Amino acid sequence: MKILVCDKIAPEALEELKKLGEVVFKTGMEPEELKKEIADADVAVVRSATKLRREIIEAAKNLKLIVRAGIGLDNIDLDAAKEKGIEVRNTPAATSISVAELVFAHMLAAARMLPMAYTSMKAHKWEKKLFQGFELYGKTLGIIGFGRIGREVAKRAICFGMKVLWYDVVDVETDIEAKRVSFDELLSSSDFITLHVPLLPQTKYMINSETISKMKDGVVLVNAARGGVVEEKAVLEALESGKIAFYCVDVFEKEPTDNFALIDHPKVIPTPHIGASAKEGQFRAGMEVVRIVREFFS
Ligand code: NAD
Repeated sequence: MKILVCDKIAPEALEELKKLGEVVFKTGMEPEELKKEIADADVAVVRSATKLRREIIEAAKNLKLIVRAGIGLDNIDLDAAKEKGIEVRNTPAATSISVAELVFAHMLAAARMLPMAYTSMKAHKWEKKLFQGFELYGKTLGIIGFGRIGREVAKRAICFGMKVLWYDVVDVETDIEAKRVSFDELLSSSDFITLHVPLLPQTKYMINSETISKMKDGVVLVNAARGGVVEEKAVLEALESGKIAFYCVDVFEKEPTDNFALIDHPKVIPTPHIGASAKEGQFRAGMEVVRIVREFFS
């Protein structure tokens, strides 16, 4: 069995995969090389970097299983895979805590202006008066999408003494002390808003100039979901007007992003899609990939 690993996964998982078949581990392949390598592969393992578009999937003659080490499947042409009878699996729970912790890193970075204080001190300045921030304690956090990551964020917010509101299109059974509200109530009542929905036609640009206008003045917006959920142009305008105080962002409409007007804005705290990039999350995701491959072929 040939297992083609196209993106970096935990080294422990690579070792385990080698016990199941011949592992070819190549990252950053151009489409032509990827087509050649995938032609005789039985399994393809990807994270988010490798795009398994239709032409790539059609070049695969033996492929039976695609495993995405992580959550989002938007880099895989699911229709093309289905037409060829290729099973597509992911590891949805493995990195939820990693992403939730990044959301807190972002919220604290905004509240205490850490990136700005860091840049100032690295320029050998002592601008103590510029960096009076605010606490998370007592603030209202609105969570849009109360799935695995949204709920992990909620649990942590409660420990910080935040009041938690959530909005979702489905009923979520939970004993977390958080209040379900309408989308509009969440927008108008939250000091911090964090997005945890998948990118779907229904969620595309759900944060736009109209929905931003319903938010509190000086809201902190966090996006560690998907770039297309937020209209970057509308956020930039709201940052300019002061409607949004900080935009904490891990995911972009285009990746790598070339929206430098956004990145260069002083109230934008950007990270390059690293939500799931914590050692423990990647270890869990890698081991889950191994389990999926083993079970699929047994
Ligand atoms: P999940 O499926 O457990 O939860 C998503 C929730 O969103 C569900 O409860 C769903 O009902 C809800 N939802 C769907 N459409 C909605 C809508 N129109 N309005 C309101 N709610 C809606 O997924 P998850 O594991 O919590 O992950 C959420 C998203 O986070 C993923 O889809 C992925 O895009 C993103 N993600 C980002 C990173 C990163 O590195 N930044 C890592 C992992 C996942």
